[in-house]
Parts: sequence; C-alpha cells; structure tokens
Amino acid sequence: MTEKTAQQAAAPVPSDHIMGVYQRAPLAFERGEGARLYTTDGEAYLDCMAGIAVNALGHANPKLVQALKDQAEKLWHTSNIFTIPGQEKLATMLTEATFADVVFFGNSGAEAIECAIKTARKHHWANGNPERIDIIGFEGSFHGRTLAAVNASGNASYLEGFGPKMPGFIQLPFDDLEAIKAAVGDTTAAIILEPVQGEGGARAWTDATLRAIRQLCDETGTLLIYDEIQCGLGRTGRLFAYEWLDGAADPDIMAVAKALGGGFPVGACLATARAANGMTPGSHGSTYGGNPLAMAVGIAAVQELTKPELLAHVREVAGYFNQQFTGLKDRFPDVVVDIRGKGLLIGVQLATPNREFMQHARDEHLLIAGGGENCVRLLPPLNLTLDEAREAIEKFERACETARDRAKAAA
Ligand SMILES: *Cc1c(COP(=O)(O)O)cnc(C)c1O
Repeated sequence: MTEKTAQQAAAPVPSDHIMGVYQRAPLAFERGEGARLYTTDGEAYLDCMAGIAVNALGHANPKLVQALKDQAEKLWHTSNIFTIPGQEKLATMLTEATFADVVFFGNSGAEAIECAIKTARKHHWANGNPERIDIIGFEGSFHGRTLAAVNASGNASYLEGFGPKMPGFIQLPFDDLEAIKAAVGDTTAAIILEPVQGEGGARAWTDATLRAIRQLCDETGTLLIYDEIQCGLGRTGRLFAYEWLDGAADPDIMAVAKALGGGFPVGACLATARAANGMTPGSHGSTYGGNPLAMAVGIAAVQELTKPELLAHVREVAGYFNQQFTGLKDRFPDVVVDIRGKGLLIGVQLATPNREFMQHARDEHLLIAGGGENCVRLLPPLNLTLDEAREAIEKFERACETARDRAKAAA
C-alpha cells in the first residue's frame, strides 16, 4: 500500500449509494482545459488517458463547447420518427471518410457493437442463411459491457455470474490465422476484432493476418467487423486504424464511439449497404441515438479529427513518445518490459504491478490508464503539445524510479 498524499486525504469519500462496480481512485476533478485536469482543491494533473480515449480534443475544447451551447439553445431532442438534419450531415461526413455507406447512431460503444452484431446476423438471415449466427471474437478483446458485447469478447471475468454464455459466440487466440481458418464454417456470421486492442494492453494485429482475414471473409461470405471505438478517429495517426493497410483489409461493419463525442455520449455503427441489407424499418432503434445535441457535438468533433494537420501531429508526438519510451525501457529494465500499441494508443508493459505504477504516476500528477497483460496505457488528447509530451515523459520517468526503488527495497 502506498501512503496517502495530501490531496487524497482531502478527496471526497466515495458514496455508499453508487453501485460498487468500480475500484475508484480517490481523486475528483471539477475543471479541465486541454490536457490539464484540476481537482476540487485546485491541484493540476497532466491527463494522458483522456477519459480512456474519449477527450481526444482535450477538455473544454472551445469548438465543441460552442457547438454544444449553440445547439442547447435551439433544440435538444425530437425523435427518430422524424428526420434529423444533424444525423444526415454527420453520416455523410463519416461515410465520405470511410469504407461505409450507411450509419446508425447510438449513445455508447457497446450500443454500436450491439448494432454491428445484429446487422451481421440479419444480413445472413435476409440472404436466406439464418443458420449463420456465429460471431468469432478474440482473447484480450473488449467490446463493452452489454450481454452481447461481453459474449463477443468472451473475457471470462466479465461473463462470470451472468448466466449461461449466449449461443453463437466463439473466442479464439489473438492473431492466430490458423485457428481462424479452422473455425470459420457454415454457421459463421462475422469476425469481430479491434485492429489495435485497447483494454487488452495496446496490442496491434499484424498487417499480414488482417489481410488474410479479409481474404478469408471474402471467400466465405463472412462479414468483418472492426471495433475502432478506442483505436479509431485519429488515435493511431490515420483517421481509422484500418487505413494503415491502404484498402487491403477494410471492414464490412465498424463500431465507433469514444472520441466521436469528445465526452458527449455518442456512438455509431457504420456499414456497407451490402452488409446492412437486413436492417429494414423496425429492425433496430434507439430513443436518444443521434439526437440533435449529440449530432451537433459529433459534427464539430469529426470536423477537427479529420484535419490532416491533426493526424500529422499525432504521428509526430507518437514518434517522440516511442523513442522516449524505448529509452526508458533500456534505462529501467527491471520496470519496463515492452512498448506496444500504435500512434497515441501506447501500452507500456511492466515488470512491477501496473495498479501500483498508476498510483506512482498519480503521485507525479500524471494520469494514465491500466490495461491487460500488466500494461499501463497512455491515451493522451490527440492535440497534446510536444512540451506536454516531454512533461509526461519526465513524470513517467520519476514513476519508473519509484517503482524500481520499491522493487529493490522489497527484494
Ligand atoms: C470503450 C470501448 C468499448 C465500449 O464502449 P462504451 O461506450 O463503454 O460502451 C467497446 N470497445 C472498445 C474497443 C472500447 O475501447
């Protein structure tokens, strides 16, 4: 156990009335600006997790704030039984920028995944193959917390206690093409994967496997679903991570959320017209999904996230981080085991417990996320400046020193 710092002692006591599904850090923030978060007692933190890749344009981004304010004074909500001009506009922006022809808007990542799974199954049903229901997912994946999403990822700890595993979901090892070839058959509907796994510890699929999966899907009529909820919208230095394959492994369906609203809850399921052929009137819906408030913020966010200069900036900052973290790995071999991920979805695999390391980082006023395989993840705002990146490295280095000294003292 680490000692309580002054800020922690002053932090509000967690409520007894919140369902206890999170182990929360004893820190509460009241204000943010760019990559800075300020606690209720005025302490500044450098935010290199950005609400787990949500605040991709930083906190209180003036363009997003203005878009929300302007819309808030006009119209919040109507209903999906009416035409919503903001939806038409954002869907046009997203389809022009991607493989997709059509978009369904929801309120979260898990809902985008639900829509993706339903779209895939309904496609086969509409094409006269109702037996094709199996969704193939992978170890270390994370697709959200609804029942279908936890079944699709197959992570045992998220499934335990929630009744029988649903039929039609298969979990395979990560990046194992032979296992995939053996598993795809007459009842396969779709393969679902994150081109760069987030929660699983910032693991990127190899290009060769993604290309082979796309080819296998084409040969077998299997639909390919990408979950780019975390790795998409600029995070890897291209607008979507699949673009790094230059058209050789485009998906048929894709789930997007997180950065799409920059903190306003919004998600989207993108699909080709062919894949979405079963999604006819009445087959799916949402009360709030794509309401005018969400669309106003989403349009402003996508206008910023698609700017070539922002994507170039991501690649530059990512290059700096990669070089620096490689240096830290050399200098702290007893702490840093591996550097992984892509762009500004950075995973640092540790030899010391990652939960403790996150506390060491917080003691330096640096906020980072955890991840699978004993990683910590850095998911900073995409407009993090190089000066802020330097500051993050200095703080991270001091956290490495603390972790190393503690490991030595314990040995
Ligand atoms: C966050 C996340 C989800 C779930 O999104 P929610 O908005 O929490 O439902 C799904 N997939 C990936 C890859 C994510 O990072």
